[in-house]
Amino acid sequence: MDRRDFLKRTAAGTSLMAVSGIEARAARQKVKRVETRLPADGYLKEPAREIPVVAGADVVVVGGGPAGFAAAVSAARQGCSVILLERHNHLGGLWTGGLVLPVLNTRGAGPDGSWTKVVHGISDDVCGSLFGMGMCINEMNPMVDPEACKYVLDEMCREAGVQTIFFSTAADVILSGSRIEAVVIECKSGRLAIRCRTVVDCSGDGDVMAWSGVPFKEIKYHIGLLARLGNTDRVDTGAEGFKAQYVGGATPIPGVTMLHMRGEEQQDGLDILNLSRLQQKFRRQIWERVQDIKSKPGYEKVFLLETAPQLGVRVTRALEAVHTVTLEESMTRTEFPDAIGMSGASDPIPYRGGVVKGADRPVWQIPYRALLPRGCDNLLVAGRCFGFEEGLAWDAREIGTCFVTGQAAGTAAAMAASARCAAAEIDVSRLRQELLKQRVTLSV
Ligand SMILES: Cc1cc2nc3c(=O)[nH]c(=O)nc-3n(C[C@H](O)[C@H](O)[C@H](O)COP(=O)(O)OP(=O)(O)OC[C@H]3O[C@@H](n4cnc5c(N)ncnc54)[C@H](O)[C@@H]3O)c2cc1C
Repeated sequence: MDRRDFLKRTAAGTSLMAVSGIEARAARQKVKRVETRLPADGYLKEPAREIPVVAGADVVVVGGGPAGFAAAVSAARQGCSVILLERHNHLGGLWTGGLVLPVLNTRGAGPDGSWTKVVHGISDDVCGSLFGMGMCINEMNPMVDPEACKYVLDEMCREAGVQTIFFSTAADVILSGSRIEAVVIECKSGRLAIRCRTVVDCSGDGDVMAWSGVPFKEIKYHIGLLARLGNTDRVDTGAEGFKAQYVGGATPIPGVTMLHMRGEEQQDGLDILNLSRLQQKFRRQIWERVQDIKSKPGYEKVFLLETAPQLGVRVTRALEAVHTVTLEESMTRTEFPDAIGMSGASDPIPYRGGVVKGADRPVWQIPYRALLPRGCDNLLVAGRCFGFEEGLAWDAREIGTCFVTGQAAGTAAAMAASARCAAAEIDVSRLRQELLKQRVTLSV
């Protein structure tokens, strides 16, 4: 089957929405009612059903956060058809929807100890556009406006020819041997299948890798909720009894600040009851905190603009990759022949019985093998669930690093789809050359 046949058979491209609407309705009509007794406990056997295959693409990217956005645009720029699936109504993931506005980890200590920027490529494209619009502040750790950021990400996807499908949760995969044949989505149009040559899992939680049966580990981590406050420039410092209160960090919009929350430690981000509990608890805490701020002399006009639409889940699953990157490797400047990019490091970290200051943390290389699962030929994993050990979780998940793994995974996925080969079989030296052309830093 050549590429044209593939696209024809899978109805990729602009006809997708019309096809999905019709097919989904048809699918609903085809549902056979099957009497099933609910078991007192244990498992219910779901009756088999037909799922319409409504679309297909060379590369299907699951999750539209920083990693998924970078993967989708990079794959599309290689000339592939790309479908980007996102369960919410916006791109940017936690960056925009989680109100995690500063892009960290673009810099770290270079070989001579000086602070060196190593994250470029697509990250620079996005932040550059936002700086140009006056919607990004701080050269060092760029802090963006979430709405402007959503707009820029949408536009960049549109310009690259990415078919973005919102309101779609990837719920399963159809496997044939060690290949994913299709990604199954749940959405208002029903349960639908999207065919794929190569899949990039950028769901943050590694949903696709989990359903594909590849090895991964689960990590319990801090979960928090971020918020924005308004009118913080209208604080009356001359009010009687005025005492300075913390009202969050500056954002590109005057008078709007961002309130950070570390939240609760050791949380299971895959347990929806736990997530629901935390969501309500944190929202209540933020509301009460803002009421407290407002009750102080001079702060009456400050208000809660919004709590983040996406709960701040930091890490849940991490791939047990062909090569899982370790904290030790990141601290000792380990060089990899298949490096696909570099990450900075921003925070102090416990290491060899002491604590290394953020400013002393070396920039570190990420090998292509850290994006490759064991046992699934056409899957790549990027973003906050690629192959890193728990000790490195604080860094491996930051937005700058997610751009790097996303850009590399998308470019590699396009190469694998075009060559009709497994992701592990692509020519990695060609991938590295291509990434250099895309202004990605591979070494310093
Ligand atoms: C509280 C908090 C503070 C942080 N502070 C910073 C900071 O200051 N600076 C920094 O650089 N980083 C920070 N981070 C880390 C950073 O925000 C995230 O690690 C980063 O956004 C991860 O990017 P990602 O693309 O891998 O995943 P995400 O940003 O989580 O995006 C994943 C996307 O996939 C979608 N998705 C998930 N599952 C599915 C599915 N099954 N089907 C379809 N779509 C799906 C989600 O809706 C989401 O949009 C913080 C994180 C948290 C939680």
